Amino acid sequence: MTVESQLRADIVEVGRRMYARGYTASNDGNISVRLGDDRLLMTPRSVCKGFMTPDMMCITDLDGKKLQGDRDPSSEMLMHLEVYRQRPDVRAVCHAHPPIATGFAVAGIPLDRAVLAEVLTTLGSIPIAEYATPSTSELPAAVRKYVKAHDGMLLANHGALTLGGDVLSAYYKLETIEHFAKISLVARLLGRENLIARDEVDRLQALRNNYGIKAPAPICPDVTAVGDLLAGPDPVTCQIVQAPEGDGRSRLVPDPIVPGAPLPNATAAGPDGDEEIRLTYRELSALIEDAIRSLK
Ligand SMILES: [Zn+2]
Repeated sequence: MTVESQLRADIVEVGRRMYARGYTASNDGNISVRLGDDRLLMTPRSVCKGFMTPDMMCITDLDGKKLQGDRDPSSEMLMHLEVYRQRPDVRAVCHAHPPIATGFAVAGIPLDRAVLAEVLTTLGSIPIAEYATPSTSELPAAVRKYVKAHDGMLLANHGALTLGGDVLSAYYKLETIEHFAKISLVARLLGRENLIARDEVDRLQALRNNYGIKAPAPICPDVTAVGDLLAGPDPVTCQIVQAPEGDGRSRLVPDPIVPGAPLPNATAAGPDGDEEIRLTYRELSALIEDAIRSLK
């Protein structure tokens, strides 16, 4: 089997897996891989990724000019070209709409909390590239901001994008993002997320070398300046990870309130001096009923 025929077979297999796992519906999603230094092998537009055959693929140059193939290349080709332009180390790109991760992208919630050790080691954090109209040149511009520092990102109100050294490793990052999103959703539904402490996050990042994982960028040392970092026009060069200092048991989401049970930290004063109040379930119900009555 030649290198090219193997790559065609890899794209077919990854497309089949993406569709089988529900990461794409209908003709959604696209996959590409470098074919030598100056050519790309890419999925064609308007085909279901679950039913592709190796002969369907297009060959383009790095400017997107079709060199070979009966069909036109993917409608998201511009986004793929931008990734290869910005990241000479990347050899494959996957894009799909995995539903849980895309739900986070729709809600505007990045997957940037330090909650899973393996995700921190493999991907670091997963940001959201700002909304851009699919298939236009807006989308490459939105991706450009994050692509130097991230191998995986969400696309606002759209889906997810992953990059890798080969087609399967780019695809596995898509799986990791969707799996991470699923676990994050369950933890948030359960009402709490215990975060991994910053010093442990640093240790996990250091482990990347042991596993031979090439990190595109380090974690940002000063997370207090992340707002400035994201708001500015410049590309992001480090990864934002929300991780507390200290013992790693900080909670972003408080414990759920169980009627009748004593409230934890019920009298603790906040950092600004505001005290939490303690209410019984009956008192809380009465307050809510009063509020509803006053609305009528
Ligand atoms: Zn898409």
